[in-house]
Amino acid sequence: MAVPTFVLDAHGCVLIWNQACERLTGVRADTLLGTRRHWQAFYDKERPCLADLVWQQRLDELETLYPHGEELQRSEHAVQLQAWCRMPQLSERLYLAIDAAWICDTTGTLVAVVETLRDLTMHKQAQMALQQLASKDGLTGLDNRRRFDAALDQEWRRAMRQSNLLSLIMLDVDCFKRYNDHYGHLQGDACLRAIAEVLQSAVTRPGDMVARFGGEEFAVILPGVHVEGATVVAERIRARVYGLLLPHARSEVEEYVTVSLGVASLLPNARNVPANLLMAADNALYAAKAYGRNRCCIDGTVLPVGSET
Ligand code: GH3
Ligand code: MG
Ligand code: MG
Repeated sequence: MAVPTFVLDAHGCVLIWNQACERLTGVRADTLLGTRRHWQAFYDKERPCLADLVWQQRLDELETLYPHGEELQRSEHAVQLQAWCRMPQLSERLYLAIDAAWICDTTGTLVAVVETLRDLTMHKQAQMALQQLASKDGLTGLDNRRRFDAALDQEWRRAMRQSNLLSLIMLDVDCFKRYNDHYGHLQGDACLRAIAEVLQSAVTRPGDMVARFGGEEFAVILPGVHVEGATVVAERIRARVYGLLLPHARSEVEEYVTVSLGVASLLPNARNVPANLLMAADNALYAAKAYGRNRCCIDGTVLPVGSET
């Protein structure tokens, strides 16, 4: 059989370990036949394989034992999923499609379990690379506008379900056209990367999201954070960017690179939409520019929980 396959007998011992399985795992059949040591081909420590869960009728533990398993499917006589396995004999990770099917005799008694494996590593890596390309900004490595839009929608719905505030910070680099004109586009790019690093270092909660909104504008989504908390984060970002002391000889504001930030917070409900939050943060950003730049401004539309627009 060209497909990597092994078979356990009714006692859970290895009955068949084919050549394709030897090639895939780097483990020879003669070291496993008649034993229950097949786990050694897939894991460092003893634990059940998918075939064992079938044999031992422990399928209720599937999600615990394969917490990152994908494409899980169950039918009457088979179970399949896809998961990363760190193959001990190969010292590498493989993304495997694992399929375990049980074979019963005419009385319905289990006589064997067949597990087949397909190596989807290259396919999975290509898929992950594509996802990365589609969601990351090439210059800064931050999430891009497309990802930001999706995340804002998702957080909006979550906040609505949980009656939680959603805060947004919009950031725009001050006098950046002049910076490019004076220092050149490449140094402009380096400046944007440095600002992106500040944003990432200043925003540390797992649920928060930093994105490049476009050009020299960045956005931060802060779920469950009220406007005061968001303002603290915005001010931290402003101060840290200033603290980089990146010379800006043509700035109208300071002799170093500065940023302006707009902060807005909303309680998502059926009568408003994510664009309202974006607009509010944008208005606050324009106010920060109008008041002299290198500062944070807050939009006034903070709603107490349960209030109506
Ligand atoms: P303000 O203080 O009002 O924001 O002035 P500004 O000059 O920053 O605003 P403006 O919108 O006039 O200029 C933004 C500049 O950002 C112009 C554009 O060339 C530059 N820019 C946008 N994306 C990039 C990029 O990826 N790399 C570089 N180096 N520059 C960029
Ligand atoms: Mg701009
Ligand atoms: Mg600007």
